Amino acid sequence: MTSREQPSRKRPRSEDASLKNSLSDSERETHEDLIFIRPMRPLSVEPDRDDKFWYKDGNVVLVAGNVAFRVYRGLLASQSTVLDDLCSADPAWHVDGCPVVHMSDRAEEVRSLLSVLINGKTYITKREVSFEDLAIWIRLAHKYRIADLLENSLRRPSLQSPHHSITAVNLARLTETSSILPLALYDCCQLPVETLLNGHTYPGGRVEKLSADDVQRCIQALSVLGVQRTLAIVKSMDLSACGYSCRFECADHVSAIKTELLEDLKSPGCRHPLCSWARFMGQYNRDMTSNVKNSAHPMCPRCIKTVIQSHGQVLLECWKNLPELLGIEVEGWATAQDA
Ligand SMILES: [Zn+2]
Repeated sequence: MTSREQPSRKRPRSEDASLKNSLSDSERETHEDLIFIRPMRPLSVEPDRDDKFWYKDGNVVLVAGNVAFRVYRGLLASQSTVLDDLCSADPAWHVDGCPVVHMSDRAEEVRSLLSVLINGKTYITKREVSFEDLAIWIRLAHKYRIADLLENSLRRPSLQSPHHSITAVNLARLTETSSILPLALYDCCQLPVETLLNGHTYPGGRVEKLSADDVQRCIQALSVLGVQRTLAIVKSMDLSACGYSCRFECADHVSAIKTELLEDLKSPGCRHPLCSWARFMGQYNRDMTSNVKNSAHPMCPRCIKTVIQSHGQVLLECWKNLPELLGIEVEGWATAQDA
């Protein structure tokens, strides 16, 4: 940046907190939970121009962290009334003739948001989106009231990611999107207790934690889900009522497998109750000669299919009851699972 115009209004040097308290209404824009603070003087360290979003004919400069983005005010204003208001306020100073707007977000967050706002909707509909980008879009679309981006982002399947379950819960809470909560909380219940209590640390050191209420909810649900896992074994591992007259000794074998599972409740292939048994049961298929490992309990394909289907019914019931098991209410959840 080659030139700066000093702000017309002088303000004594002050810490952010006291500056915030001393702002007049005209200097403080309030959008419900949002308060934008506009520093009345240039930064002591000149921000770096962003490599991607620095258009020579741009007419507003956004500064986030130590990065400056020169973009188009009309483009921002057309998509967000909050950004419009922010850009319309008296600027603290100018850079290259452009008003400078301070963002309270991190530079990478603003860059990610601009990539959508400037590149358009095709960017979000055609491109594989990382969870990190998705989380940024949801937070900022909620903050800056960008309805279509928020709605689109909340619908994306990649939001349901076991590796980011804590963030998914917090995004669901932030945006009051309860339909995301059951699976996200369920995934949190699979986390190590230490992570559940202390949060997930992202590269760079940022820690994402559950609220105390949600931590308590997950801890209470752990025993409930443990019971569901046990019930799934008891209900599914039973061929007595299937009506198929098997010429092998599958009933005996399934009983033996059940006993083993109950003795060692670690998992049939995975830790949690909402997991299909297709692969797990497949290893007992007597027709598969490679299953030497489980030759002690060989079963015919027909009986294996019966067990898998029976377990599928148990899973469906568990899935329908998931909000209740987790101690939350999600309107229309059970109905949606029937559809
Ligand atoms: Zn059989």
